[in-house]
Amino acid sequence: MTVATEIACSVDIEHAGSFAYARCGCGWRGPGRRAVDRARRDAGEHGQALAA
Ligand SMILES: [Zn+2]
Repeated sequence: MTVATEIACSVDIEHAGSFAYARCGCGWRGPGRRAVDRARRDAGEHGQALAA
């Protein structure tokens, strides 16, 4: 059977000045990053941590 994987957390990338950080609907917020790519990585790790 096919079960769609629900994403428990909705993570967005927020920008603050020259920094970017991942912010989630669950209240979690990642550290400020100078690179958006790093913020996206934080977001991915957050999602994986919750899925584990
Ligand atoms: Zn979350």
